Amino acid sequence: MESRTIQIGGAVVTVDEAAETLQAIHGGRVDAVVVSNGEGHEVFTFRDAKHPFQLLIEAMSEGAVLTTLDGIICYLNPCFSTLIGMDSRQAVCRSLAEFAAPARAADLTALLERARTGPSARANLELIAHDGRLVPVQLSVSRAMLDDVEVFCVVVTDLTASVRQEELYRQARLEVEARDRLFSVAAHELRNPLAVLELQGQLLARLLDRSRNETVEQVIEPAKTIVEKVRRQSTRLGILVGKLLDVGTIGAGRLQLTRETVDLAEVVSTVLERSRPDLERSGSVVTAELRPARGHWDRVRLEQVIDNLISNAAKYGLGRPIRVFVESDPKVARVGVEDMGSGIPVEARERIFRPYERMAETCGQPGLGIGLYVTAEIVKAHGGTIKVEGMPDGGSRFVVELPIHDAV
Ligand code: ADP
Repeated sequence: MESRTIQIGGAVVTVDEAAETLQAIHGGRVDAVVVSNGEGHEVFTFRDAKHPFQLLIEAMSEGAVLTTLDGIICYLNPCFSTLIGMDSRQAVCRSLAEFAAPARAADLTALLERARTGPSARANLELIAHDGRLVPVQLSVSRAMLDDVEVFCVVVTDLTASVRQEELYRQARLEVEARDRLFSVAAHELRNPLAVLELQGQLLARLLDRSRNETVEQVIEPAKTIVEKVRRQSTRLGILVGKLLDVGTIGAGRLQLTRETVDLAEVVSTVLERSRPDLERSGSVVTAELRPARGHWDRVRLEQVIDNLISNAAKYGLGRPIRVFVESDPKVARVGVEDMGSGIPVEARERIFRPYERMAETCGQPGLGIGLYVTAEIVKAHGGTIKVEGMPDGGSRFVVELPIHDAV
């Protein structure tokens, strides 16, 4: 049977062909039609009608995605393609859910469900790019009709820069808060020894006033006590000021080590000897198991490390026994300080090594919250590690490991 023909412009086409062409034009699958009219060819383009919108979507600095109501991607613009690190050909026909970070997949499902039942929906979540990068985004989803099929129009805003800025802002705020806290704690900590020094000065002045009417023996003994107290408070002041200076030095990346051959066991003995009065005051009895462990380290800085750990054990050890050990294998020297005190909850075991961090429960004890920070930085500068673990019956065990590969 001969098919019926019609004439469009100068062209004669079958009715079926014409219907097909019109449907294709209507469906946006045709960019142009070429018509021959005997004098040559004439090109009619349909590009102009949709071109501005297409240009707009393609040039957008936000991602744009069209999906079916099941979330299957039909179209994505170049920005979204860059964001997920996958070109359009690879991404079309995949489910948008494939690009949600696993932890946020349920949030994406909920978002699409809200958009399915309401006019539009918006949520912040994380996408996972082709190379595994997590990208924080805001997704705005609304429904639209494409021909007679309902689709989701999804606008994707990359939040990486604003999340980074928020994080920087949060860190800066934490630092300012921590510094304020440090100033007030430092002022408080410095005031106590200063007050003692002032008082001892007054006592000494009074003693000297009276000394004209008293024997040398009557003056010397009280004067010795005063001098001892002055000495102890000056040492305390010196340590406090040293800690504050250390925070500045470390913060500026200027911590330098003066290495020499050192026996860690000797360092621990020296510190234990020096800390004897404080340990006695704390009530804790110390047992030490010290095996020689020689390496190429900074003696003074290591004394500082051990001193911090031992004085913390005395401070937070509730007067119970303390055990200190030094051991080594061919590659690593290990020093440990164990106490049976208040202990440190698992969730705080990382945080206490950060500057100005203290546990609320132990804040009755004086302290700046910088000792463990400085300790950890010194250990790090030696290429070592420090960790804290819980003891079976409460209390804590701090263990420092130092490499001995470059021992001389
Ligand atoms: P400071 O003792 O001056 O507060 P540190 O940086 O030395 O500062 O310690 C930080 C915090 O860690 C302490 O405030 C305390 O809460 C906790 N801590 C440190 N050592 C111990 C310990 N041996 N037992 C219990 N808590 C500890």
